[in-house]
Amino acid sequence: MTRRKLVAGNWKMNGDRAALAELVAIAAAGAGAVDVAIAVPATLIAPAVALVPGFAIGGEDVHPAETGAHTGCLSAALLKEAGASFCIVGHSERRADCYETDAEVKAKAEALHRHAMRAILCVGETLAQRDAGQAEAVVTGQIAASLPEGAAADWLSIAYEPVWAIGTGRTPTVADVAAMHGAIRAKLRALIGAEADAMRILYGGSVTAENAAALLHAGDVDGALVGGASLTAAKFVPIVAAAG
Ligand code: PEP
Repeated sequence: MTRRKLVAGNWKMNGDRAALAELVAIAAAGAGAVDVAIAVPATLIAPAVALVPGFAIGGEDVHPAETGAHTGCLSAALLKEAGASFCIVGHSERRADCYETDAEVKAKAEALHRHAMRAILCVGETLAQRDAGQAEAVVTGQIAASLPEGAAADWLSIAYEPVWAIGTGRTPTVADVAAMHGAIRAKLRALIGAEADAMRILYGGSVTAENAAALLHAGDVDGALVGGASLTAAKFVPIVAAAG
């Protein structure tokens, strides 16, 4: 099956209104036959959408509840009202910093789906888990425990992000990436049947203009989730080009 590639950026807690000039340059560069999206800090969602209407702007986290006493959190409805069309859930930095569990990640994705938003669900092993030979079991276990009800390719993508590759300049070999994506695809098939073949599985972790072509064309890799290199058009646009 042919799956259209998706290259998504994750600005994390970086960027300000002045930095949105980079977003304008990224949008202006065009994407060809590739989908492009950028998740930005929540305060930048509305100004970003105003600057690049029609470009997919997303949030970096969402609370699973609709409303309530959750100081500092944002619901899917609030993100959507601000202009976000998608949101990342389960990023390893949130799993580590905020102790997010698979069950919470699942509930977050389901909240996005209730509001007709798209989700990028992140999974990935730590270095200790990889060294112990547990990487595949950990990642497929995260998939099984955090895959939302109604998981379907038109609103959900998976991002395989080995924790030890995020922001470190280290990446798995292309063969290791292909093997893990194949294992994720097989797990998805076991869970949701043929829909798994339409679902995009992104690779994330130190993707750069230099390594993007090899990583993005590995088996079962349907795009990338890019952190540091999504902050400037000069670094991000070549990654989008490499995906095409
Ligand atoms: C990320 O934060 O999802 C990520 C992959 O970061 P980086 O590209 O900087 O490793």
